[in-house]
Parts: sequence; C-alpha cells; structure tokens
Amino acid sequence: MKPPVFEYHRPASLTEAVDMLGGLENARLLAGGQSLMPMLAMRFAFPDHLIDLNRIPALAGIAEDGGTLRVGAMTRQRDLLDHPVVRARLPMLAEALEQVGHRQTRNRGTVGGSLCHLDPAAELVAVATALDAELEIAGPRGARTLPMAAFPLGFMTPALEPDELLTGLRFALPALPQGACFTEFARRHGDYAIVSAAAILWPRDGRIGRASITLGGVGPVPVRLEAAEAALAGQRADAESFAAAAACCGALDPMDDAQVPAWYRRRLAATLVRRALTTAWERADVR
Ligand SMILES: Cc1cc2nc3c(=O)[nH]c(=O)nc-3n(C[C@H](O)[C@H](O)[C@H](O)COP(=O)(O)OP(=O)(O)OC[C@H]3O[C@@H](n4cnc5c(N)ncnc54)[C@H](O)[C@@H]3O)c2cc1C
Repeated sequence: MKPPVFEYHRPASLTEAVDMLGGLENARLLAGGQSLMPMLAMRFAFPDHLIDLNRIPALAGIAEDGGTLRVGAMTRQRDLLDHPVVRARLPMLAEALEQVGHRQTRNRGTVGGSLCHLDPAAELVAVATALDAELEIAGPRGARTLPMAAFPLGFMTPALEPDELLTGLRFALPALPQGACFTEFARRHGDYAIVSAAAILWPRDGRIGRASITLGGVGPVPVRLEAAEAALAGQRADAESFAAAAACCGALDPMDDAQVPAWYRRRLAATLVRRALTTAWERADVR
C-alpha cells in the first residue's frame, strides 16, 4: 500500500512548526510515525502537508524540575522507559511503557504521538490519566496547559485546535508514600490492551487514605472510577474492599467490537481492578 501524495516539511524550531501548522491547509504532524505511517499507507488519513517534528531538538528530553518530571512531546517511549527517575519514582509509568508495542516501535514512537493519537486502549493515555499529568500545548495564540483529564474530547479526538501541537507533559513526583500498579490484558504481548487498569493507593494509618483507579479500553476515552475511589478512602485494604471497588465496573457501558463483546470487557475490567488494587497495596509497603 502506498500513502497518498503530500508535501513534506521539516521545521527546525517550534516557532517554525507552529507557523507552518497555522499557515498550511490540511496539514498533519509527523512524530515517530508508528501510527501515522500505517494510517497513511492504509489511506485512513489524507493530509496535503506533513510537518516532521523530528528535527526540533527542543521538543525532546526529560528533566526533573522541582517536584515534577517534564517530558518533551518528542521524547521516544524507550527513553522514558529507561529513565532512572521514572524507574525510581514513577514505576507504574515504566510498567505501562513496557507494554506499549514492541522494543522497535518504542525506539521510534514518541510520548506525545501516543497521547495525541489517543487510542482508547493506549497504555500511555491510561497511565497519564491515572497520574493526573499536565499537558503543555503551543499554538499561534501562545502556550497553554491542560490537565490530562480534559485532553480526550472523544474517540481519538484530543483537545487540540487544528493549529496547535503538544509540546510536553509534566508528571508530579509522588511526595507521599504510595503503591501503584498498571496491568492489562491483551491477546499477545505487544498488542494494544483489550482492557487495562491503573491503580494508585496512598496509605494512611494502616488504611487506604486515597485511591486512584483508571481503566483503559472500556470506552472511547479513559475512565476514572470515581465512585470506587471515594468508597475506598478510609477503608481497610483487604479482599472485601477491593472486591467492592471492582464491583463498580458493573455500571460500565463498554464498547462491543470485533475482538470482544461488552460483557467480556466489563468482567475483565473488574478482574483487572481487583488485581491492580491488590498489587498496588502490596507495593505500598505498609508496616
Ligand atoms: C506493531 C505496532 C504495535 C503497537 N502497539 C501499541 C500498543 O500496544 N500500545 C500503544 O499504545 N501503542 C501501540 N502502537 C502505537 C505506537 O505506540 C505509536 O508510537 C503511537 O501510537 C504514536 O506515536 P508516534 O510518535 O509514532 O506518532 P505518529 O504516528 O507520528 O503520530 C500519531 C498521531 O499524533 C499526531 N501527533 C504526533 N505528535 C504530535 C504532537 N506533538 N502534537 C500534536 N499532534 C501530534 C500525529 O499528527 C498523528 O495524528 C503500536 C504501533 C505498532 C506499529
């Protein structure tokens, strides 16, 4: 299969990229190309202009900045996975990244490309939601920030204007002790998850102080199980409370697709939530 005809542009700075994006009709950004190139080859996308972000060094890089970890949009997924601060302070992010595609796709695929492609089952989308990441966006009207929760507008539709691009994101580094777990079910290792679950538990006085539970793959955008999060606060961390939290998945209205029916996703979600909570608590190292 061959992609449709387009004009190729290679800006050398963010300013140049923003000018091109605002000035060219029907333009598309090229990051790692791991999703866009197949989409072009299969004729799911027909841009007249392709703006390649790969020659803008300022868009890539990882830096610890106060209490946050800032990740440039063009940072390769492999570089984030291997970063010592991620391994030490945000292990759930590394756990999710290990399940994104394959070593070869992670070498090229970028963090920003995965977030903007916004596949409902993408691991990075779910984990950025669970970690309450803050996104940095640039456009002709200047820069703005957006919480990850407000980024997905609908199925594969990020809250970006046509002349805007994602420049980076920030993860808050945990200040309080916590335990976290990302788990998923996919038919084969390297496939997108059918369903994924990310859980973070903050212990307080031997009980659960606060909980964060996010599901990927059950709807067009990631789902935060807010009712279960609220119900867990102040509870004892045991099989009973985790089963009650998992039971909240019964209220989900997941999608049916060619892979699996909705009821299967709902049951899978409950199982993965229970497992993620159990492992998160084990990792919280409560004494
Ligand atoms: C065999 C294979 C298996 C895979 N398995 C998985 C998997 O299990 N889980 C998973 O999550 N992904 C998977 N992927 C997809 C992979 O993670 C991609 O890297 C990712 O979806 C897109 O990142 P990219 O950098 O390649 O972006 P590209 O493909 O270059 O771009 C993707 C989209 O994002 C837009 N975009 C890119 N950067 C920006 C930006 N800075 N601002 C605004 N818009 C932007 C592009 O215009 C395009 O629409 C797989 C891919 C392959 C080829």
